[in-house]
Amino acid sequence: MVLDTNATTVHRSSEHEIRDSEQTTCCVVGGGPAGMILAYLLARQQVPVILLEAHKDFDRDFRGDTIHPSVMENLDELGLAERLLQLRHTKIRNIALPTGNGSATPIDFSPLKIKYPYVTLMPQSEFLDFMAAEAQRLPHFKLIMGGRVEELIDEGGVVRGVRYQSGDGWHEIRATLTVGADGRFSRLRRLSGLEAITTSPPMDVLWFRLPRLATEPEGAMARVKPGRLMAMLDRREQWQIAYVIPKDSFRELKEAGIQALRQSIVELAPELADRVDGLQDWKQVALLSVAADRLRQWYKPGLLLIGDAAHTMSPVGGVGINYAIQDAVATANILTAPLQTGRLRLSDLRAVQRRRELPTRFIQTIQSIIQQRVISSLLDSRAQPKLPGLVLWLVQFRFVRSIPARVMGIGLRPEHVQQRHEIATTAPRPA
Ligand SMILES: Cc1cc2nc3c(=O)[nH]c(=O)nc-3n(C[C@H](O)[C@H](O)[C@H](O)COP(=O)(O)OP(=O)(O)OC[C@H]3O[C@@H](n4cnc5c(N)ncnc54)[C@H](O)[C@@H]3O)c2cc1C
Repeated sequence: MVLDTNATTVHRSSEHEIRDSEQTTCCVVGGGPAGMILAYLLARQQVPVILLEAHKDFDRDFRGDTIHPSVMENLDELGLAERLLQLRHTKIRNIALPTGNGSATPIDFSPLKIKYPYVTLMPQSEFLDFMAAEAQRLPHFKLIMGGRVEELIDEGGVVRGVRYQSGDGWHEIRATLTVGADGRFSRLRRLSGLEAITTSPPMDVLWFRLPRLATEPEGAMARVKPGRLMAMLDRREQWQIAYVIPKDSFRELKEAGIQALRQSIVELAPELADRVDGLQDWKQVALLSVAADRLRQWYKPGLLLIGDAAHTMSPVGGVGINYAIQDAVATANILTAPLQTGRLRLSDLRAVQRRRELPTRFIQTIQSIIQQRVISSLLDSRAQPKLPGLVLWLVQFRFVRSIPARVMGIGLRPEHVQQRHEIATTAPRPA
């Protein structure tokens, strides 16, 4: 039976005074790409959903601005792609790498026979704002910002919802299904006791920003020198820079001083010499301790984890957002009917893991190979790294260049939205 979203009571739980208790069918925790898309898809099929996001807005630290071709296809299936493309964005059609004797383009999206053969780049907060505005037109969708989930409501081994804190105290949401889409530091994962298989990528990444000139190239580029690797991502007036370092070497780098980092940046990208002085303090540099793992089991009675909460992704290839959204689409495809009819079984949650585990293992294996074989040897190298002659010869062919583009931009087993028609909405679209 579908539960009413508006029931309100005030009571005292074992430890906290609960200001109110709401009931819904699906409580999604985490308004990142996975949670937002899942909540939207379920509400669109008239499944009552409450989406809880710990922050008060979507504008926070950089976590990738990429919208992959497969996600664009999903948005197209929902009739949203063209409107999203009306927002300011850039398109990455290929990725060039320096070779030591020029540059090669080993990744090329343009030969792919798909409607959106490019990676769309726009600030993730703008994408999430766009999706939230669309979702808020749906009568079965409710968004709670600034609500940080602290506890699961566990009754006899079955998760019946969550308790969360917001500015005015504790609240409770009771739900037929709780979905943890709360990212790489997932609290729901910890609370659930579900176990992960962890790998240890041999690198960490420093993230910082430097000004970008309007005359500079759009999109993304990589810079390589002996023992060093840096990626520059276009964020309009700024370059978002990923400076890759060997695992656990940050302290050593810090001891060498920020001037040494500035000098290394200029060696990698001489055009930044006129702005690198903007980097004055280590506080401007965020350390990403690169992690990669995957839960053995993504669910337990009443609870499902998806996106980074189920499988934390390494930043290699910039695919985490794509996989998080593909999880959301598969979850909606599999769970909409059981949630609509009130007949959700554990086997339905297992079906979500079955569907998504293989593609996740596939991409994590590829990331691990790239980390061990390519990035590690680049970071260890004392000579200017060069792409092998055979690779240089092969990437002359469009078909060859399209293979890594397909793996990165579409992935194994892309998901398609299985919803036929648009559902009536309560509000007109914002202008
Ligand atoms: C520095 C960095 C750069 C990256 N670059 C890229 C890239 O270029 N391309 C790419 O595809 N991927 C990139 N990734 C990976 C990508 O960010 C993730 O794979 C993706 O965001 C996962 O989406 P998600 O929805 O599962 O989780 P997240 O995007 O992490 O969203 C989780 C949400 O849950 C909220 N939350 C957390 N705890 C709670 C709680 N207790 N209660 C309520 N809400 C909570 C968080 O505030 C957050 O909004 C990058 C990651 C990092 C860290």
